[in-house]
Amino acid sequence: MTLGREKLNFLNTPTPIQRLDNISEELGINLYLKRDDLTNFGTGGNKLRKLEYLVKDALDQGATMLLTVGGAQTNHGRLTGAVAAKYGLKAAIIAVDPYPGEMSANLLLDGIMGCPVYLVQQDGVHTDAELEAAAIEKVTKEWEEKGEKVYFIPVGGSNELGILGYYDCAMEIAQQVKEMELEDVRLVTTVGSFGTYMGLAVGIKNENLPLRLTGIGISPKPNGLYDYGLKYYEKIKKFFNLDLEMTEEDFDLTSDYDHGAYNNPVKEVREALYYMGRKEAVILDPCYTGKTFAGILSMVKEGKIKPGENVIMLHTGGIPGIYTKHHRVEMEKELADYIRII
Ligand SMILES: *Cc1c(COP(=O)(O)O)cnc(C)c1O
Repeated sequence: MTLGREKLNFLNTPTPIQRLDNISEELGINLYLKRDDLTNFGTGGNKLRKLEYLVKDALDQGATMLLTVGGAQTNHGRLTGAVAAKYGLKAAIIAVDPYPGEMSANLLLDGIMGCPVYLVQQDGVHTDAELEAAAIEKVTKEWEEKGEKVYFIPVGGSNELGILGYYDCAMEIAQQVKEMELEDVRLVTTVGSFGTYMGLAVGIKNENLPLRLTGIGISPKPNGLYDYGLKYYEKIKKFFNLDLEMTEEDFDLTSDYDHGAYNNPVKEVREALYYMGRKEAVILDPCYTGKTFAGILSMVKEGKIKPGENVIMLHTGGIPGIYTKHHRVEMEKELADYIRII
């Protein structure tokens, strides 16, 4: 029970925190990974911690179906489908996105787990948001006519309840750090739809945990990350009736490493991904964790992360992303020399 809310308990937690010995030595810092990519359903990822709370709420409301939204390659959608499969619920994903021409990566996993994906096509008249809203209404009606009770989960599971999974994770990390006798730890996470960062930030502040949190944005937000975060926190505060002020000083966020767009192929990010694979045999993804790790490498170079600093990067999963066409074709070119036909 966190902030008065209950959750399902389906995760193999605590997930391990592992030291990256080879990279730590090369960078002159102590770099660790919190392995939330090793969570146990649907190939894992950070959305599962949010779904422990969201699906509990859905079941409490008598829902029989989970409906969510995202891009065609949404990791959150895939994991919503995974939890639905496990709990005998129906699930579907709505994405305003063209068909990528192949059923790969998350789309393939969605199909394997029995979760349909509705790909809404741009009509050149409406905005994506308008098309999405209309599709939500249409698909909900369609399934309700078949007798389902639909529970809607917003993009990334990042609403008020969705922060609690990472509130808990902040406490989990603080406990592990204590057992490891690590001091003055900087925790670094990716910032996408913001639920993960917000959960960690509120958890750290409200529970007075000895962790410093840095969020690395992976896509630009219209009025910047701070504006987005402060508005999101106002909703959280109201919803949970929290007696806790959070200001800009409580948030450490950077947009310096977002490379200008969401899920774009970036050479520097792929280089970071190869570096991690070759030094530590850990696979990152090109959309989220690869950008974050590339950001950490830059921060070390720029002296923003100091020599000897203890840094834990949250590995939020997303590995299917390496199999999406627009990333894969770039990697196939760069790695062509690794296939040697003799
Ligand atoms: C969704 C996602 C994130 C970002 O988490 P938010 O809570 O949306 O900020 C990071 N990494 C991966 C792999 C994700 O799927």
